[in-house]
Amino acid sequence: MSRQRHVIVGGGVAAASAAATLRANGFEGEVCIVSDDVALPYERPPLSKRFLSPETDGTATLVKSADWYAEHDVTVLLRTRAESLDTTAKTIDLSTAEQLSYDKLLIATGVRARTLPHVDSDRIQTLRSIADAQEARTRIAAADRVAILGGGFIGCEAASTAVSMGKRVTVLERTETLMQAALGPVIGGVMTDVHRAAGVHVVAGVVVQRIDETPTTVVARTDHGRIEADLVLVGAGSQPNVELAHSAGIEVKGGIVTDQFSRTSARDVFAAGDVASTFHPFYKEHLRVEHHDSAIRHGASAAKNMLGLDAPFAEAHWFWSDQYDHSIQQVGRAKPDDDMVLRGSLDDLSFSAFSLRDGRITRVISLNRPKDVLAVRRMLFTDHTVSAEQLQDEATPLNRLARR
Ligand SMILES: Cc1cc2nc3c(=O)[nH]c(=O)nc-3n(C[C@H](O)[C@H](O)[C@H](O)COP(=O)(O)OP(=O)(O)OC[C@H]3O[C@@H](n4cnc5c(N)ncnc54)[C@H](O)[C@@H]3O)c2cc1C
Repeated sequence: MSRQRHVIVGGGVAAASAAATLRANGFEGEVCIVSDDVALPYERPPLSKRFLSPETDGTATLVKSADWYAEHDVTVLLRTRAESLDTTAKTIDLSTAEQLSYDKLLIATGVRARTLPHVDSDRIQTLRSIADAQEARTRIAAADRVAILGGGFIGCEAASTAVSMGKRVTVLERTETLMQAALGPVIGGVMTDVHRAAGVHVVAGVVVQRIDETPTTVVARTDHGRIEADLVLVGAGSQPNVELAHSAGIEVKGGIVTDQFSRTSARDVFAAGDVASTFHPFYKEHLRVEHHDSAIRHGASAAKNMLGLDAPFAEAHWFWSDQYDHSIQQVGRAKPDDDMVLRGSLDDLSFSAFSLRDGRITRVISLNRPKDVLAVRRMLFTDHTVSAEQLQDEATPLNRLARR
């Protein structure tokens, strides 16, 4: 019998984690990662943070060393795109004009940064890949005025690094506060004040209508006036790379649809990471998240399922963001009408905001309180009943509530 081949399309953390899990669980067939990136799988989170500063050496932090792939007999085809997929013949056409057959396939193609339509300029930069970040790093160093389009996490992280480098930074954000979509208006407001206090010019509630380039600058025209800059960083969200799956007839709905075992609608094809919209057994709905920790765990879970080990993906969704010396973390998932309970102090920049529904914690967003997040992460899917008073009372340890 010929050796089996499991192929992973996409070269991010979900792919690396899946490859490692295949080997850790005794898969002895071929493992092949197809990645259109120039580098072995690397960590993206640093790219919008300290990586942009000249204090770092500007190299990627690899998930696994080059030696690891050799030692574990994992082939990585870099600069190679999976162009099309035939789920009946179980083959993938590559940009190198080769064809790869698979026994099991994992699609972990992630997302791409949303770009501005009709604008192509050296002075306008997105932040997704190591190549983007290396360019951004050089351009920020050379710039005096940096405008950031979009006050989401990536934009705010880049703003915090750039302003710490002495750059004149403006953030243009459509909503009334920074990071409002994820943090809500109250915590978003706290973080807006943090950025302003650090010297960032935050222009919130604006719509950027167009970007023009002059021989020396870029000009963002908004409904509230114009902002001139040497460099524009675009942090305008992302879109999932679903085209490969979609054109192969695999079900796609805002992401590649999978069951809790990461199985797509096509036989022997799995999906994981940022691109996958996976049924969550606790929430009883399909969810697609763009969190580093989830991508790693999802890749591992999918790999186990490729090997026939039943491993539902049922994780709490956790993410973090570092801005200045502050750590924002969130775990869980809230509904807009959940109660909000505060522990700690907004003014002191040390708090946890709990979302509460029928005596259960559904989510916590913390600023500089990682232990609170850890405690909630442990109790999120367990049976527990807590009151607003207990959560507000700093003398009541959260760990003790978890055991009830
Ligand atoms: C700048 C930045 C900062 C971040 N910071 C944080 C953070 O602080 N905290 C946090 O929780 N999360 C953060 N994230 C999100 C986190 O990095 C992602 O959730 C994670 O990288 C997703 O991993 P993935 O493997 O699913 O996809 P990706 O990392 O997107 O990898 C997918 C890869 O597949 C490749 N690909 C796509 N299509 C094809 C094809 N057809 N053929 C071959 N290859 C293909 C892509 O080019 C890409 O290299 C950040 C992301 C970015 C970009």
